[in-house]
Amino acid sequence: MEVLIAGGGIAGLTLALTCHQVGVPAQVFESAQDLRPLGLGINLQPNAVRELYDLGLEQELASIGVPIREWALASSNGIDVWTEPRGLDAGHRWPQYAVHRGELAMMLYRAVLDRLGPDAVLDGQKVTGYVHATNGARVDVSNSDATTTVDARLLIGADGLHSAVRARMFPGDGGPRWGGKVLWRGVAQAPPIRSGSAFLVVGNSQQRFATFPISVPDPDTGLQTQNWIAEQTFDRRRGWRRADWNTRVSIDEFIGDFEDWQFDWLDVPALVRSSAIVFEYPMVDRDPVGHWVHGSVALIGDAAHPMYPIGSNGASQAIVDARVLGAAFIEHGVGSDALRAYEATRLDAMSALVIRNRDAGPFSVLSLVDERCGGVFDDIDDIVPRAEISRMMTNYKTAAGVAIDELNAAPPTIAST
Ligand SMILES: Cc1cc2nc3c(=O)[nH]c(=O)nc-3n(C[C@H](O)[C@H](O)[C@H](O)COP(=O)(O)OP(=O)(O)OC[C@H]3O[C@@H](n4cnc5c(N)ncnc54)[C@H](O)[C@@H]3O)c2cc1C
Repeated sequence: MEVLIAGGGIAGLTLALTCHQVGVPAQVFESAQDLRPLGLGINLQPNAVRELYDLGLEQELASIGVPIREWALASSNGIDVWTEPRGLDAGHRWPQYAVHRGELAMMLYRAVLDRLGPDAVLDGQKVTGYVHATNGARVDVSNSDATTTVDARLLIGADGLHSAVRARMFPGDGGPRWGGKVLWRGVAQAPPIRSGSAFLVVGNSQQRFATFPISVPDPDTGLQTQNWIAEQTFDRRRGWRRADWNTRVSIDEFIGDFEDWQFDWLDVPALVRSSAIVFEYPMVDRDPVGHWVHGSVALIGDAAHPMYPIGSNGASQAIVDARVLGAAFIEHGVGSDALRAYEATRLDAMSALVIRNRDAGPFSVLSLVDERCGGVFDDIDDIVPRAEISRMMTNYKTAAGVAIDELNAAPPTIAST
């Protein structure tokens, strides 16, 4: 086998499509018994949307995504601190899309089966380790019946936060690191909030609430599916439940802290209470590592650089990783030179982004506002000058690879076919 991809999430499926586009045979080994539309809402930044367009998925994405046109931060008193246009409205050549993660994964999965064939994704196959072999890697794979080994020219670990490939590459790695914040996530049917295409964040450094739509309004009811994320900070000694995106909890566990977050444009407790199911997730990442390549093995996506879900980068950067690796295959062939070229392009920038997100990324201005005036002000310029906020936002976009002029002017990672 040429390229064995461990993990059929956003990174692994995008890499499979990219390999197909550049003429490299690849197969995905996915530990789940069957791929189902799991997860809730995520955002795809224009840099990732561009890559999906170049994979010929423009129409498919438009059918599942909602273009985000407004991005706003408000203090914990509900007063606007900063608003800016997003996507095409901001001058990007590609939109920013809000999508259901599961629908995005299923869209990619369908495209992989359609283009690479029905055996391109093997379900119920968990990659558990690897050893180096003369011409690549010998990969350990276990399923419900047995453990086998598969020889591959390259092994790509796209197996997410709890990556087995990463654990083999870094046996002493301490595992996910919890910084003290817990997220609760849900979706609700709700009337459009503000423009109906807005990514909104309210709060301060200790407590935040973010929400954005992941469907257009239903023509009959006028309601749209509104994704929300509530976040609270705890004493780190309290301990945390294992990071699993599918842990269900009761609303009563956290709603008390958000009870008075009722503004004329957003009623947080009402939105949360209209959700049938709520998931809890501890905000974790991992310390950056010095390399993602070990001989003929490489890490991409969350296996390489899991970061706090701040600034909508998890899925977006995973997609970009897959595309940069595909471009390296074109330039260097299918071998460790390509892996090292990919690593050289991506590692420093992603390690810096992991650290930047620990400091609240683009939401850090809310902490400043809270410290300086408790979130109550008449003119934001008296608290944090707009020019300073603008600089903070531009710096974050540059770090994430979505600075408007640079991205618009950059040549395609891989030209569309
Ligand atoms: C079920 C699920 C729900 C999620 N929900 C959200 C959400 O609501 N909001 C959000 O911001 N992010 C969510 N995420 C994370 C988000 O998808 C990622 O941060 C981002 O898309 C990067 O994707 P990735 O492909 O690198 O990792 P992931 O999306 O985590 O995909 C990793 C894939 O590898 C598979 N896998 C794991 N271990 C092995 C192994 N040893 N062998 C083979 N396969 C393996 C997993 O089953 C998964 O399909 C979710 C992830 C998962 C897996």
